[in-house]
Order: sequence, then C-alpha cells, then structure tokens
Amino acid sequence: MHQASMSIPEYTAPATLDDALGIKKERGAEARVIAGGTDLILRMRDKVFSPSVLIDLRRLSLDGIALSDNELRLGAFVSLSQVLESADIERLFPALPAGCREFAGPPIRNRGTLGGNIVNASPAADLVPPLIAYDASIVLSSSDGERVLQLMAFFVGPGQSVMEPDEILTEIRLPLMPASSAATFIKLGQRRSMAISQVNLTTRLSVDESSMVSEARIVLGSVAPVPMRAVAAEEFLLGKELSEKLLNRAAKKARDEVTPISDVRASLSYRLEMVEVLVRRALLATWDELRGSAPDG
Ligand SMILES: Cc1cc2nc3c(=O)[nH]c(=O)nc-3n(C[C@H](O)[C@H](O)[C@H](O)COP(=O)(O)OP(=O)(O)OC[C@H]3O[C@@H](n4cnc5c(N)ncnc54)[C@H](O)[C@@H]3O)c2cc1C
Repeated sequence: MHQASMSIPEYTAPATLDDALGIKKERGAEARVIAGGTDLILRMRDKVFSPSVLIDLRRLSLDGIALSDNELRLGAFVSLSQVLESADIERLFPALPAGCREFAGPPIRNRGTLGGNIVNASPAADLVPPLIAYDASIVLSSSDGERVLQLMAFFVGPGQSVMEPDEILTEIRLPLMPASSAATFIKLGQRRSMAISQVNLTTRLSVDESSMVSEARIVLGSVAPVPMRAVAAEEFLLGKELSEKLLNRAAKKARDEVTPISDVRASLSYRLEMVEVLVRRALLATWDELRGSAPDG
C-alpha cells in the first residue's frame, strides 16, 4: 500500500455544471474531473497527476442516453455497463458494446466511463476506435460556452488532447448510420480481457442501393501515438462492390499506412502483420454482417 505517499486533494461534488465550470476556470489543470476513477487514482498514486481538487460530477446527471431522429447523445459519465445495457446502442452502434465486452472485468466496467476512456487519450483506449468509426463528435464545455469537435481531432499524443485546462467533456454524439451499415470491433491483447490492447480496431462499411461502398472506416488503436484511420484503404473501397479480393487488397493498404512502435507488448513486425490480418478479418466480418442484414438475405 503506497497510499500514504499520495497527497490528498480537496474533493467537491458541485450541484450544477456552471459551478463545476467555475472551479475549472479558477483552478485550471490543478482541478481534475474524477469519473469512475479507474485510471485517475492509479495515476495519482504513481504521481503522474497531483491535482489539488477533484471534481466529482455525479450530481449533474451526465449519464443520460438519448436517441433523436438523427443522432444518439451519450453523457460523458455513461459507464461501460450502461452501454452494455442499452438496447438502442446494441441495435444502432453494436461495435461500441463489442468493445465494452472485451474491456477489463465487471467491476471496472461498472465504474469506468466513456468520457474517462476518451480523456485519458491512451493510444490503446478500446472504446475510441468504435466511436471514431461511427463518426462521433464530442462536446467540450467551459464557462465561455461549448465547442463541438470530431473525436478524431481530439487526440494530440499519448495522454495528450486539445482539451483546455478550463474545459470538461460533457457529451458524445453519434450520428445515425446510413440504412445498410455494419461494423466490427476486434481487440488483440496478450490475454483475453484485463489486457492492454496490442492492436484494437473497428471497421465500418455502409453500402448504397446498388451495393457499392458509400462509406468506409478503418480505425486502429495501439499502432500509433494517437488513434488513426487508414484513410488510403478507406478511400480505395469507396464506390466499389464488395468482394473478398477487394477486402484483402484494402487490408494490405492499411498495413502500408501504419507505422507502429515496438514496445514491451509487441514488436513492430508483429504489429504490422497483425494489422493486415486483423483488418482483413474485421472487413470480412463486416461484409458478412451486411449480407446477413440485407433485406434479400
Ligand atoms: C484493471 C484495469 C483494467 C482496464 N482495462 C481497460 C481496457 O480493457 N481497455 C481500456 O481502454 N481501458 C482499460 N482500463 C483503463 C480505464 O479503466 C478506462 O480508460 C476507463 O474508461 C476510464 O474511465 P474512468 O471513468 O474510470 O476515468 P477516470 O479515471 O475517472 O478519469 C480518467 C481521466 O479522464 C479525466 N476525465 C474523466 N472524465 C472527464 C470529463 N467528463 N471531462 C474532463 N476530464 C475527464 C480525468 O480527470 C482523468 O484524467 C483499465 C483500467 C484498469 C485499472
């Protein structure tokens, strides 16, 4: 137990978002939001962060899930367990709960939040590739107002984002997908669950009435300092009819686009090989899913 060496910050649970944002404006990076605490507490123990104030937002009802005609809005405090319990998410954005199922064990899933997984800005964050594949945008609030940005534009480097010290992540927005869409999440870790990803990815394909690819997303985690999209491979697929050969070629292109790092979890050549294998597997599974859900079978 090293707790004795961790300096104990002030703790506050403001009653309104304005109060929370007021504290952020005044104290900046000294004041940290605590959501599930699954990551923050470890970092405080290891002295990566030594905040003087912890802001708990649980009184603000930031854990809502609201479906409208054109999008799904998720509060930043929605937990992984809540994602897994939502029938709307399972039906409309199934790669997100697929990511949650591969994520740690039930105690962490009960506490850990979507917002915490995003703000951590870990290159290995498991929920970020599915969210990016669904074109998620996020709402960053400050006492000056709010700004909405594409999740893809949030990340700057490992643990680093464009979030300003006076901002709080309040909401995640997912636009509804075109009618014929499917997505697949795959995580490769050293062990099943409780493992940091060596490679994690999500592919999404949408096709038009003539079965041509209208949208393609290939989003990879753990292969670069920030989550990345294999843009050339995505573009290669656009306007084409799906076939095994086409998807094999797209997977090769994705491999050419990544420049992964070697680290204790996996070597560079192993990661490159895995990118091609996993992108191919994910694209084939996504195509299968699309065919399965097509009106004509
Ligand atoms: C045993 C274990 C297993 C794990 N397994 C996985 C795994 O399989 N996959 C994976 O991706 N991660 C994993 N994690 C990491 C972690 O659990 C997740 O990243 C989780 O989603 C973090 O959410 P949280 O609510 O606990 O965040 P916290 O720890 O509360 O916060 C994380 C960071 O985000 C900031 N923050 C949180 N919410 C907001 C907000 N709304 N606005 C501004 N800043 C905010 C905090 O200040 C802090 O810096 C694991 C952790 C542990 C301890």
